[in-house]
Amino acid sequence: MTIFRSNLYNVVVCGAGPAGLMAAYQLGKLAGNDGRVLLLDKKEPWKEPIFCAEAVSTHRLNELWPIDESWVRGSISGIYFTSPKGYKAEFYSKDCGRLLDRSKFHHAIADACVEAGVECRYDALVKSISRDESGWHLNVQVGGEMVEISARAVIDATGPGCRLTRGIPCLEGIESGDIDLEPAIFAVAEGIEHKRDHIDLFYGSEFPGGYGWIFPRDGKEVNIGFVLAKDAKPGISMRDKLKQFITNHYPEASVKAVYGGMIACGQSNKPMAKCGLFKAGDAASCVNPLSRSGIVEALLCGKLVAESVHEWLAAADENARVNIESAVLDRWMKALGKSHLQIARAKPGLAKIKDEQFDKAAMRLSKLPREKQTLLRIFFAVLWSCPSVIWKMRSFLH
Ligand SMILES: Cc1cc2nc3c(=O)[nH]c(=O)nc-3n(C[C@H](O)[C@H](O)[C@H](O)COP(=O)(O)OP(=O)(O)OC[C@H]3O[C@@H](n4cnc5c(N)ncnc54)[C@H](O)[C@@H]3O)c2cc1C
Repeated sequence: MTIFRSNLYNVVVCGAGPAGLMAAYQLGKLAGNDGRVLLLDKKEPWKEPIFCAEAVSTHRLNELWPIDESWVRGSISGIYFTSPKGYKAEFYSKDCGRLLDRSKFHHAIADACVEAGVECRYDALVKSISRDESGWHLNVQVGGEMVEISARAVIDATGPGCRLTRGIPCLEGIESGDIDLEPAIFAVAEGIEHKRDHIDLFYGSEFPGGYGWIFPRDGKEVNIGFVLAKDAKPGISMRDKLKQFITNHYPEASVKAVYGGMIACGQSNKPMAKCGLFKAGDAASCVNPLSRSGIVEALLCGKLVAESVHEWLAAADENARVNIESAVLDRWMKALGKSHLQIARAKPGLAKIKDEQFDKAAMRLSKLPREKQTLLRIFFAVLWSCPSVIWKMRSFLH
């Protein structure tokens, strides 16, 4: 039986999360039906559970992939910022965000990939990759069988970390996707009173370097969880800490399931492409280091990387290819990377804000009319309550 249509592709995209799906779709569209683009994932992109709170900014998603209500769970019109003592500042803006059903959203992009002429395979685990003078070679496991396929270029969109690209001599110094991997965990629960069009974010020492959250889901369900700084030492397991969070704040909650994952924060200045291998999404640490949003970021990165790969395939010589590879980081920096870098530098300062300072700022803000509680005012109220942080945040404020 022939598993793949060919054993030589122009591009193999490894990983069909938002970054890989978007990259494959763009490449298919740019190259036409004869693009010889192969998209691989070890599981179907719509297979649940997807470890995510599924919130995105409405206008930023719309710029990249027009929103279709068939894959949206609901709209977000506000965010509560809750301090340790329970004071709430409220940012309100009608339809500022959407809660996706990521499973359906992935399905929609995967369908578009097929229409764009991409060969897709969702039972294919990329075990390892290697390179010689003829290009890239991938060892792929499909069922019980090992298959070798070759490609001129590879996109690594396999999510947080660098399992595929570690230890390959020609890739030394490339972005690793693991510079600031933060642990996150959440439960899908019922029985928690919560406004269906609001997100609730909890700050303070209960979540060192991170934050707790409640995001609405379908019906009466919510997603309740938290993310911690990479070096936070909670003293108990993430699961026990989640249990404690839920029991302390919402003893009436009934937990249906618990999921965990890593969030690939931490922008670096390292190259995102070398020797015909391109990194995209979490595999390139593209998550916003403060909000920890990574869906739109992965889509955008996947698009930029696909455009670069398309140019790379048409490049006249090795010199031109090397220039295109080094320009990937510049493109990303211009789009989002520069602001991520500033946020990443400021993050340790924010992690030092004390509970009393959050309480003071939130109490003051909660007394203002809702229309005056802008994101900027909320941000500066927290900063002014903690002057020592302003110096540490200077890179962000420039
Ligand atoms: C708990 C949690 C909550 C989050 N909440 C939000 C949120 O509300 N909003 C937001 O914007 N972001 C959120 N994020 C971040 C967001 O989920 C990621 O940034 C986003 O999924 C990154 O997309 P990606 O395509 O780069 O990687 P992924 O979505 O991780 O996709 C990688 C794909 O690669 C496949 N793969 C991996 N290794 C191989 C291999 N060797 N062979 C074949 N296939 C492979 C995997 O099966 C997977 O499908 C959250 C993350 C976590 C952990």
